[in-house]
Amino acid sequence: MDAHAEICRAIDGYRDRVVALSHEIHAHPELKFEEQFAADLLTRAGAELGLDMQRGVGGLKTAFRAEFGNEGPTVAILAEYDALPNGHSCGHNLIAGAALAAVQGLKSIASRLPGRIVFLGTPAEEGGGGKIILIDKGALKGVDAAMMAHPTDVEFSTMPALATQHLKLTFHGRAAHAAAAPWDGSSALAAVIQTFQSVDAMRLHLRDGSRLHGIITDGGQAVNIIPEKTECLFLARARTSKYAQEIGARVIRCGEAAAMATGTRMEHEIEGGYKNMINNRSMASRYSAHSETLGVRCPEAPEDMPTGSTDMGDVSHVMPAIHPVFAISKRGEGNCHEDAFVKHADSEHGYQAMIRVAKAMAMTAYDLLAEPALLASSKQEYAARKES
Ligand SMILES: [Zn+2]
Repeated sequence: MDAHAEICRAIDGYRDRVVALSHEIHAHPELKFEEQFAADLLTRAGAELGLDMQRGVGGLKTAFRAEFGNEGPTVAILAEYDALPNGHSCGHNLIAGAALAAVQGLKSIASRLPGRIVFLGTPAEEGGGGKIILIDKGALKGVDAAMMAHPTDVEFSTMPALATQHLKLTFHGRAAHAAAAPWDGSSALAAVIQTFQSVDAMRLHLRDGSRLHGIITDGGQAVNIIPEKTECLFLARARTSKYAQEIGARVIRCGEAAAMATGTRMEHEIEGGYKNMINNRSMASRYSAHSETLGVRCPEAPEDMPTGSTDMGDVSHVMPAIHPVFAISKRGEGNCHEDAFVKHADSEHGYQAMIRVAKAMAMTAYDLLAEPALLASSKQEYAARKES
């Protein structure tokens, strides 16, 4: 039996175990950086496979890492397992299950692997940037290529995820009695409203593919007091980090103009963002070929596909990486972050897709270790696109 067939057979034999684990994670949704239950389950499952599981990697208590194999190149398979306030509406329980099953398939032929596999548990994809912390702390040092797969409502070997820039604007006005002495006050609420109006006027001038959205998190203290303090958040997204930062700078100017017009003072904070995803096409096309042998067409996504953002983008800026998406619902039946997606993330069709994707990832990882030409072309592509 060849390596691919052995990997797939091992994963089939592991199906019940990994489906039960993924279901349990789904039943215990945990927010970013608090994924204790999921990290414990995955750590135990890894140990059952004979892996030496390290916890607390990079100073993150819910991160884990294991490494196995032989001399040669190293491929990392990444797991996410955080949820959102409305549960596993992003299906990260399936990401974790697919990663674990892929690792199990590869572990089954560990003695003959022509290289090493890293199994990395990455907390807090939903707004915490766990992968960015792990990259900074060296958890991916020495790794040649990385992959993970994410459920959604379409099937693509690539995902054109956008870069992000988070901003917080705070306006400081002067409080006054809203009826008896409004002329003594300056309204921080007027400033925040004008900021949103200026941002809306500026939106027309953004490049295609950009997104800019915001909320008012503090609109004032009492209806009969001229608001002394207000606060709003913006999230700018674009195809490159550079352009997302440029949009962020424009938002700050809108806020400064509003502060000047309303006699208030503005402070801003720039919080870290995610980088855009550089989808490694050499790796994606191999993943796609394996997906087809498993009976599911998986082309490259159109570059203008509406999409979100992920800290896997940051990984793709330090090494060749892929983030294929797999369909667990049909268009219109619910997509990531929607309440309706929660049930798809714990469904028979969801688990079926998870197992298939685990096989496609494991075979792709194996090929990257076994075929020096494939890894070399992935690295050449990474180097060329990184510079551009
Ligand atoms: Zn997600």
